[in-house]
Amino acid sequence: MCGVCGVYNFDKASEMLYLGIFALQHRGQDNAGMAVWDGREIRIHKDKGLVFDIFKPEVLASLPGRVAIGHTRYPTAGDSSLVNAQPHHADTKDGRMVIVSNGDVTNMLEQTRYLKSQGFTPYGSNDAEVIVASIACYYEQTGDIARAIEMMMDNVKGSYSAILLFKGDMYVFRDPLGIRPLSLGKSGDGLVFASESCAIETMGGSYQRDIEPGELFIVKPGGTESRRLKKMPTYKHCVFEHIYFSRPDSVVYGESVAQKRFMFGQKLARESRVLSEFVLPVPDSSNNAALGYADQAGIPFKLALIRSHYIGRTFIGSSQAIRDFAVKLKFNPVKSLIQGKKVGVVDDSIVRGTTSKKLMRFIREAGAQEIHFRIASPPIKHPCFYGVDTPRRHELIASSQSVEQIKEFVGADTLNYLSLEGLKSCLKEPENYCYACLDGRYPIDPPAGK
Ligand code: SF4
Repeated sequence: MCGVCGVYNFDKASEMLYLGIFALQHRGQDNAGMAVWDGREIRIHKDKGLVFDIFKPEVLASLPGRVAIGHTRYPTAGDSSLVNAQPHHADTKDGRMVIVSNGDVTNMLEQTRYLKSQGFTPYGSNDAEVIVASIACYYEQTGDIARAIEMMMDNVKGSYSAILLFKGDMYVFRDPLGIRPLSLGKSGDGLVFASESCAIETMGGSYQRDIEPGELFIVKPGGTESRRLKKMPTYKHCVFEHIYFSRPDSVVYGESVAQKRFMFGQKLARESRVLSEFVLPVPDSSNNAALGYADQAGIPFKLALIRSHYIGRTFIGSSQAIRDFAVKLKFNPVKSLIQGKKVGVVDDSIVRGTTSKKLMRFIREAGAQEIHFRIASPPIKHPCFYGVDTPRRHELIASSQSVEQIKEFVGADTLNYLSLEGLKSCLKEPENYCYACLDGRYPIDPPAGK
């Protein structure tokens, strides 16, 4: 889970890019970085922390240029040290190439071994570094950047939505299955690219279309060019972008996230018995699903759980101790709305179950008579290997416990999940999605030994 962004042909590209990566902060809060082409060379600045804290006005002023790429990172491969922060670079005889990428490489070991045999020594342990080193390696062999990216697609397995900067030109591409999103937009005379359309709009742009799976989109001073390097019969977009990751004001895979979540909530209400007097969302990612649930069930929607916005998502926390602390800081129930009521609680998903258990306790302590817990996605039973930091299998509560057991564990009176069929029925092209963490059917082999 990371955010990538690129801007081309702007007077102060770093300032424009700042807006874009700020809008993608929810996709990664560990570190952030940008690379800017100043007409002669590429300057890189990256650090640990939030975009707002890293890119002060004096830092942006030290990054002049008309072309820039940027990244917000949540580590899924490689540790969180700065050496693994993006952008990553690789040097060729014709200069340095720099990349930002969202995704996970599943054959890291094998590909790193090959790169070492060709004289490329990795400086970190990040997927994007392997991707840019592979492109640099194949570029040295062929002298053709588009061919080098195609050879990378042939040899590097996994997910990547990436933007490469080389000699002032921009190369934008997605893996052939299109697992992670990447959109193209226009802003004035410039082009903008981002993981989510909300970032394009934040930069004053208008969403044009998605970069297609297996497509290479080239931007040069002379114009743009699109090449379809790979074409698969079906794609495998990550369905969790709609369930949880993406901002609801985004369009991903050509569909409105807010609208999808509303439909998941409606479907959930149709599938499960409605036993509550009103419904409250676990804010913010469940708001639209809870609205859909309330709409379908014909019961009121109440904001009876208040979220502090001064702390990140509890899912983004690197140890159990931090996550426990974060839940207490993050949510507070409104007693006057809950006291003596039969309460419906809608959440987008359950991962370990520990956050849900605490929430049920908070709501019970606020005086709820009954709690009917509804989840707007199917149970997560399997880990993800394509760019999402789901815990190892044994930590996923639904991998070993039944719905009844989970209900007991979290302390709800009833618990229902949206069915997989129900989820699919809400999508325009269900065959083009990945559901591996729900059904265990991995579209790309997991890394060896996993
Ligand atoms: S396994 Fe799950 S989280 Fe990972 S890409 Fe597939 S649907 Fe998304």
